[in-house]
Amino acid sequence: MNALLPKMDHHWLPFTNNRLFRQEPQIFARAEGVRYWTPEGREILDGSAGLFCCAAGHGRREIADAVHRQLMTLDYTPHFQRAANVSFEFAERLAGLLPEGIDRLFFGNSGSEAVDSAVKIVLAYHKARGQSQRTRFVSRNWAYHGVNMGGTSLAGMVNNRRDFGAVTFDAVHMRHTWTEEQRFTRGQPDTGADRADDLEDLCRLYGGETIAAVFIEPIAGSIGTIVPPKGYLEKIRAICDRYGIVLVFDEVITGFGRTGAAFAAQEFAVTPDVITMAKALTNGVIPMSAVAVKREMQAAVIDAAEGDRPELFHGYTYSAHPVACAAGLAALDIYRDEDLFGRGKALSGHFLDTVFGLRNLPQVVDLRGYGMLAGIQLKPGATPGAKGSIAQRRLFDAGLHVKATGDALIFAPALVAGTDDIDRMGDILRRILGDAD
Ligand code: PLP
Repeated sequence: MNALLPKMDHHWLPFTNNRLFRQEPQIFARAEGVRYWTPEGREILDGSAGLFCCAAGHGRREIADAVHRQLMTLDYTPHFQRAANVSFEFAERLAGLLPEGIDRLFFGNSGSEAVDSAVKIVLAYHKARGQSQRTRFVSRNWAYHGVNMGGTSLAGMVNNRRDFGAVTFDAVHMRHTWTEEQRFTRGQPDTGADRADDLEDLCRLYGGETIAAVFIEPIAGSIGTIVPPKGYLEKIRAICDRYGIVLVFDEVITGFGRTGAAFAAQEFAVTPDVITMAKALTNGVIPMSAVAVKREMQAAVIDAAEGDRPELFHGYTYSAHPVACAAGLAALDIYRDEDLFGRGKALSGHFLDTVFGLRNLPQVVDLRGYGMLAGIQLKPGATPGAKGSIAQRRLFDAGLHVKATGDALIFAPALVAGTDDIDRMGDILRRILGDAD
């Protein structure tokens, strides 16, 4: 029994093998910059910016101070028929970062809530335009869109939906874009754009006029970083336009500089109709998410409302929580003042050199990466995910935190990481993944 550890019977950890965890707990006690420390004081480099949320690194005093100030000034505001200035200020700042015209913001508390809110906003929009027959949603195999009802329905990662059919709605899936010939491609693959034709096929099969929206992660993050082939997103956009389908980019991971621009929509120069975001929205320190929609989509819903009823019967007790808005504003200040999106773009070359330097290791069967986001695919073991889980634990023991999904590691340090930090992370990866088994 370790005196530094608490009793672990009561907290049911999410997406965790709780049996194993209780035997071999991996606990963080403190964080600063791109480092965590265990209760024993052992340093663990943060190779995944927490869960891709702490873009500006841990322990940012500017955000802590803003949160404290907000708590002592106005700790909570309901947002049903009430509001506080801070949420309008935050929404305006976000609008300035988003692609032109996608500048109406609806707030929630998690990426999953953003996805479910986007589903409902899309349905409300179609109804407002007299297109209530558009009820079908499209996503992709291997997609991750959170774990609430919308996200579970859209999910393309098998374990995230297999046991939960009872809560899902009508979603159909395109193929993912990874193909064998893309192995070890740095940046956008040259081949695979034709997979966008799956959408055309679904439009023919179901009738494009029945499809409400297509949800796409511009880079599929949680499956292990699948970078869109050149021309793929453009083709998806064109097919959506042809059939009047709303295109949603789920930028919960790719938002806020991860790809080199504020949003992947800008980096890949393809403009969706809706963008979901969370994680780095507040640098990960206060739960918050947002759905950004095109101006005309909000206008259609507002214009269609009758009498004095609310236009959209949807929202959360903690929508636009003033403390989260204050944290978000402070995070945006840091991103601007430290030019963090530019910094991430500049750092990407060194980061991807480090990632692709792992190419010949015995455990590595594929590498993918773009911007400051990379996937390291491990040689599969006896059961899917076993190798990923073992590697993740061994890396932790060696002083590196990275997220594992199945047999892929997702390497995505904070945008404030130094080249020396990345080198040290790369050294640990090389050492652990260099073992023959
Ligand atoms: N959408 C995408 C693309 C994500 O990557 C995630 C989380 O990783 C989510 C939605 C869900 O976010 P949350 O865990 O905050 O609910």
